[in-house]
Amino acid sequence: MIKQNLQQVLENIDKANTQNKDIKLIAVSKSVGSDAVRQMSELGQMDFGENRVQVLKQKIDELNEPKMNLKWHFIGRLQNNKINQLIDLSPILWHSCDSLQRAIEFDKRLAKKGKTQDTLLQINSANEDAKQGVSLEMAKDIYEQIKSECKNINLKGVMSIGAFSDDRREIQKSFEATYKIFESLNDAKFCSMGMSSDYELAIKCGSNMLRVGSVLFH
Ligand SMILES: *Cc1c(COP(=O)(O)O)cnc(C)c1O
Repeated sequence: MIKQNLQQVLENIDKANTQNKDIKLIAVSKSVGSDAVRQMSELGQMDFGENRVQVLKQKIDELNEPKMNLKWHFIGRLQNNKINQLIDLSPILWHSCDSLQRAIEFDKRLAKKGKTQDTLLQINSANEDAKQGVSLEMAKDIYEQIKSECKNINLKGVMSIGAFSDDRREIQKSFEATYKIFESLNDAKFCSMGMSSDYELAIKCGSNMLRVGSVLFH
């Protein structure tokens, strides 16, 4: 089942990727256990995303054979009291840095531990109360501020969740607005947008990093 799901998603990505770009697929494993992660990794899918620090730690512990070489992405809301734990888990990329204050706090803890962290700035691209992230208007300024003030955070680009809407045009608008900011940044590498219901649209709008869960693991 997982095998067909992965093949289908990879095929759809290929079809939508008319510009032949490098697009990274992250399998969001938050709703499944370690066995499913192991199965998926045996198919060659090595990047996984989790949205809770506790669950990420548990999966890393359960799947800790060094040879497995899994790459963990942290994509969820992060409270300040979980920052140290997340730093200790060394995710390959933290997608959800949602404010300047959070970045400053994270940076302080990194400095204490003598570590650095590759990070994306989360943008609340449809201006929704329920979502984390910086506003479209402030995104570029905050990005540059983090770059200059937080020396232990390596900013690598932006992340956004598409507008919560049945109207594809609204979702597209939120992706396009995020991509426009991404394009305007100096040496930003990743534009992380697109989930199960909208990853093909996200690719058409310029995404090069997809966070896909339910259609892979259902
Ligand atoms: C759950 C989640 C996803 C994946 O969502 P699906 O609809 O299951 O593909 C992507 N990004 C974030 C931030 C999530 O929390």
